[in-house]
Amino acid sequence: MALFGKKTRYTSVTVRKRDIPDGLWVKCPGCGEIVYRNALAEALQVCPKCQYHFPMSRAERIALLTEPASWSEWDAHLRSADPLEFTGATSYREKLEENIRTTGHPDAVSCGGARIGPHEVALGVMDFAFLGGSMGSVVGEKITRLIERATAERRPVVIVCASGGARMYEGMLSLMQMAKTSAACARHRDAGLPYIAVLTNPTTAGVMASFATLGDVIIAEPGALIGFAGPRVIRETTQQELPPGFQTAEFLLDHGLLDAVVHRRDLKTVLIRLLDYLAPAGAAVPAPAP
Ligand SMILES: [Zn+2]
Repeated sequence: MALFGKKTRYTSVTVRKRDIPDGLWVKCPGCGEIVYRNALAEALQVCPKCQYHFPMSRAERIALLTEPASWSEWDAHLRSADPLEFTGATSYREKLEENIRTTGHPDAVSCGGARIGPHEVALGVMDFAFLGGSMGSVVGEKITRLIERATAERRPVVIVCASGGARMYEGMLSLMQMAKTSAACARHRDAGLPYIAVLTNPTTAGVMASFATLGDVIIAEPGALIGFAGPRVIRETTQQELPPGFQTAEFLLDHGLLDAVVHRRDLKTVLIRLLDYLAPAGAAVPAPAP
């Protein structure tokens, strides 16, 4: 009733806001349509109207790709330190606490053993919701341990990437993770074992420039933003206009950086087919205790 008691001016902004009540509905960035959140969840977080791929939580991603009850998490105890005692508008320590609280996870990646079809794999799932999926010491260490354990147990590696890049709050220590994870990928390859990278929206900067693009097979979800630097930086550095669709999965597929762009509903089937082909005979091992 208060609405009618005052002379309210309805600007376009207020109308737009009223169209999207918090929680139940979400506006699709792909087509601008308002989508019912429950319908989105049933459709694997893909817009039913335009197929825009929304982010998935770790639990949803693990449920999508792995056999029921086959996931056992590894290195869940690792926690970020604050070596630089970084403080900006808020401190790194406060940022960490806030992200741990909102996501329910201690850092931006979950790693573990799981079965995809008949294959025992080492699976990493990154989460953009945790500090932009940024790679600090913990993300780098967990990814490295994941790959090293996979090498030792002769498992294929599958990593679902989503990241804004290195974690600036940890300075140079976060940049070191690029070399560390890349070296683990190289040792895994030298052991003759496969690694499949799945790039989701967005996969950029230090993660894109390290393990995300070192897969034997690199798959991306449709429309995913994939790149090293942002378009503005590239435009200013090269002094050139960028082509349409630049840094999308489809553009990178056309230019040879990706092997396939795969719709989310087909992702597990494609992974199983690739693992059937790439996984070494006798590589499947019983899942060890967590
Ligand atoms: Zn849409």
